[in-house]
Amino acid sequence: MLDTTTIITTSILVTWICFIVTLERIFPYTKGVKFFRKGFWLDMVWYTFIQSYFLSILINSYIIAPLKVRFNYEGTVLSHWPIWALVLLFLFTHDFYIYWFHRLQHHNKILWRTHEAHHSNKEVDWLAGSRSHILEIIINQTIEFAPIVLLLDVETAAIVVPIKALLDATWGIWIHSNIDIHSGKLQYIINGPEMHQWHHSDHQEVFYSNYGTKFAFWDWMFGTMFIPGLNPREYKMMKPDKFGLPYDFPQDYFMQHWFAFHRFDVKKIEAIPLVKTYIDWKKPVLRIFKKEEEEPTIGPSPNPQTTK
Ligand SMILES: [Zn+2]
Ligand SMILES: [Zn+2]
Repeated sequence: MLDTTTIITTSILVTWICFIVTLERIFPYTKGVKFFRKGFWLDMVWYTFIQSYFLSILINSYIIAPLKVRFNYEGTVLSHWPIWALVLLFLFTHDFYIYWFHRLQHHNKILWRTHEAHHSNKEVDWLAGSRSHILEIIINQTIEFAPIVLLLDVETAAIVVPIKALLDATWGIWIHSNIDIHSGKLQYIINGPEMHQWHHSDHQEVFYSNYGTKFAFWDWMFGTMFIPGLNPREYKMMKPDKFGLPYDFPQDYFMQHWFAFHRFDVKKIEAIPLVKTYIDWKKPVLRIFKKEEEEPTIGPSPNPQTTK
């Protein structure tokens, strides 16, 4: 039986997804990105449903709950704060952490292995942000939710945690969305697709830019912002023309995870008959939803980018 909090947060999330998907159809940032884009089912089934389900149990029940028992802190210092102030506090502090950890992931070769999956989609839309290596989620969500659970009493944490999780989900959908928005000076404060679509581009110049998740001011403060057209940034293009990784990356969920620990020749491994059969098993199923899934695009790119 679903509890009231789950029903409310799920309803808000579904409404938000419908709203964002509608805007993507009307005002696409990159034209030609289909709703059932390449990797849609991988992100939806494996990363959004299966991985999220098991990791929430692992992180909450097997990492954070034992920590709560171990430290046995009743949370008397912060628990009298109003809920909105607590949400703002944890939003702000975690976003500061995530800016620096994300930045470190782009600079450190080992940490990059935990983050490259997130950059592997060649088409970036509302769902693309769900693709993250298990290790990345375990690290980030433990650091995000452990302080809330440890520093607050059980009743207050039970309100703050779902609000924070809902904010994560809606904001994640927003910054990855394929929406052509021009928010002007708001991009100094709140992060959105204008900065994050660039972050997912396969342009070398942008690899060390736009690390922010919710707030944009970290990038402005620490000199890592990249938005062509917004003073003083000049660039040859107003929008990226290619997304994803500059090297081969596996298509399968398990191979994507293994690739972080052991490099292999992706094309060679995926050409092995047994592996190929395994990767392609879903194609007849996918054909029901989207006939063109396995057909290569013929003719000129449907996605002429605006250039400056
Ligand atoms: Zn990144
Ligand atoms: Zn992202």
